[in-house]
Amino acid sequence: MNNAIRLKPGREKSMLNRHPWIFSGGIQSVVGSPEPGEVVEIQSSVGQRLGSAFYNAHSQISLRVITDAPAGPLDRTFWMHRLDQCLSRRSRVRQTTNAFRVVFGESDGFPGLVIDVLADIVVVQLSSLGVEGLREIIQDWIVLNFNPAAIIERSESSSLRAEGMNPRQELWWGTTSGAVEINEGSLRYLADPVQGQKTGFFIDQRDNRRRVAELGSKSLLNLFSYSGGFTVPAALNGASTVSVDSSEPALALVHENLTLNGLELASHETIADDVFEFLRQHSAQYEMVIVDPPAFVKRRTDVDKAARAYKDVNRLALKRVLPGGYMLTCSCSQFVDWTLFRQILFAAGVESGRDVQVVGQFTQPEDHPVSLYFPEGEYLKTALLRVF
Ligand code: SAH
Repeated sequence: MNNAIRLKPGREKSMLNRHPWIFSGGIQSVVGSPEPGEVVEIQSSVGQRLGSAFYNAHSQISLRVITDAPAGPLDRTFWMHRLDQCLSRRSRVRQTTNAFRVVFGESDGFPGLVIDVLADIVVVQLSSLGVEGLREIIQDWIVLNFNPAAIIERSESSSLRAEGMNPRQELWWGTTSGAVEINEGSLRYLADPVQGQKTGFFIDQRDNRRRVAELGSKSLLNLFSYSGGFTVPAALNGASTVSVDSSEPALALVHENLTLNGLELASHETIADDVFEFLRQHSAQYEMVIVDPPAFVKRRTDVDKAARAYKDVNRLALKRVLPGGYMLTCSCSQFVDWTLFRQILFAAGVESGRDVQVVGQFTQPEDHPVSLYFPEGEYLKTALLRVF
């Protein structure tokens, strides 16, 4: 490795704090002529070797730090070992489910790489040019460890263009044939890794599904239900349910998932509607209301607009909770932090006229870990509210 990036004086601080990103403004000079996505040596302003990173001159995040070790080649063995480490850290999660995230980007030492396992299908998302260069190693490792029916790349975010990458969906390996069945404890779900939203199933809501089951409410309003992730555990614990989503295919999956779990459809309703419209038109109340909208904000500049949407939906949903009941409300927007989320809930609470207690605050499950040094990795915020 001959190419190196020398940082401006003081800019090595973020590395010393173990943060994995260095922005273009921190670069003093480029030694050699590294290609976008290539591994480079990181040097302090006086030439001291600090570690290695993926370099991408096209990206605001010019350096994505791979290691702060001063020596050692970043060869196939290095990457295979790091992937093995990710897998071994999932051994507890794998005891109860075959749907889990095995690599979670920066938090797992793989800037720009996400790998989800859904039964015998593996879904890969690449979001940095650096990991794109590891495709062969990643594929070999997946085949070796999971012997999958298919490996599907779903790198579809429009933000990839800022990295100099094209959004795409591509079959890397094997063949796909529609939805797969996944298990989570005693729950069973169909997930569609090709057509489905995200990578086919919201595996990151696993702990919240358990919480909803445990509360054992007798009636559930599941807003933004998708395929019924929350509907099924509530129904299995005796709730009648109403699932609302704007997507007809998602609601068809709610029916299939209820049936798959041995439930009769009679006390389970699905409503294809815009949630905001639905909440304005109906007034029935439920023991438990779930609010799990999509990321209303995908860019920092949209935060104000998104905050209003979050406040509106939470205000309207709070009115749908029976006195003494619960509301589980989420934000999966990276740009809505806990402080803002609490402000939004505060405003929604005041405007709803209800008395509201926060009885739980949660983030992602352990297969979506948040590195202490990379708080940006915490995207899922959940508040469990008790409403009077
Ligand atoms: N709670 C789900 C995941 C929700 S994903 C789970 O646990 O699996 C967000 C869902 O909101 C998607 O299914 C999408 O179709 C739906 N959606 C987005 N905007 C909507 C709107 N305005 N009204 C109703 N549904 C909407």
